[in-house]
Amino acid sequence: MVADVTGRRGRLAPTPTGYLHVGHARTFAVAAHRAGQAGLALRIEDLDGPRCRPEFTAAAIEDLRWLGLDWTEGPDCGGPHAPYVQSERATWYLEIWRRLAAAGAIYPSPHSRRDVEQAASAPHDETCDPRRSAESVFPPALRPCQWDRAAAPGGTPWRFRVPDGRVIEFHDGICGPIRLTAGVDFGDFVVWRRDDLAAYELAVVADDHAMQIEEVVRGADLLVSTARQLLLYEALGWQPPCFAHAPLVCDASGRRLAKRTGGLAIRDLRAAGWSAAAVLERHGVPRH
Ligand code: GLU
Repeated sequence: MVADVTGRRGRLAPTPTGYLHVGHARTFAVAAHRAGQAGLALRIEDLDGPRCRPEFTAAAIEDLRWLGLDWTEGPDCGGPHAPYVQSERATWYLEIWRRLAAAGAIYPSPHSRRDVEQAASAPHDETCDPRRSAESVFPPALRPCQWDRAAAPGGTPWRFRVPDGRVIEFHDGICGPIRLTAGVDFGDFVVWRRDDLAAYELAVVADDHAMQIEEVVRGADLLVSTARQLLLYEALGWQPPCFAHAPLVCDASGRRLAKRTGGLAIRDLRAAGWSAAAVLERHGVPRH
């Protein structure tokens, strides 16, 4: 795996819905290696309601420390961009919702992600092909013709309207040149959820910008998200960071590791007597 030191300020952004596994270890170690002296912020991405649990946040911090990863800003060491816990940043996300709504870039859409997936009856994709989004493309026919101006999201999901046919190109620090087409590889995506919380794409862009992240390193399962997020940066008039997507770790049958995958949780390996160095080496990550 190409893992140059870029010296760009990065971040670690675990979602505390389960224990970190070797796939996370690999992505986070690559992030630490590439950032080098520029350092990392640790941000807890806990917007996923009751699935996010404080004990998983504590476990993630413990596992990251055990792996020897270090951050200069985050929940347990402060820093100029605090708080670093997404559930505490609602005001900032609402401000971004307002900017996007004022620009006419987003619209209310009662169709949940699940509705769209069911309508398209697309199978959930758990392969290691990062070009295949796990999500069905939102059918443009479901876009509303008009909608009322709103001062607040108001308990309806809101979607970003993508420019159909637009090719989004970027140079990935690990994968090289990437080209994805709006309306083909991905469609209108949710930026605000029915439960009145920011959706992943909005929250991550709002935070990476506010925290002055210079390079986003994450798993290759988020390649399509990066194309979506580039459209958000453009709509907000912000300069996007650089991006590098680490290859996914797959199990023996070629399925990507999920938090439910047994046996490959970092804490299980530690309990089984593995050293941090052995965990990282076994999964081809650079020493930093
Ligand atoms: N929180 C996400 C995850 O744990 C990562 C999001 C990102 O890196 O943008 O998969």
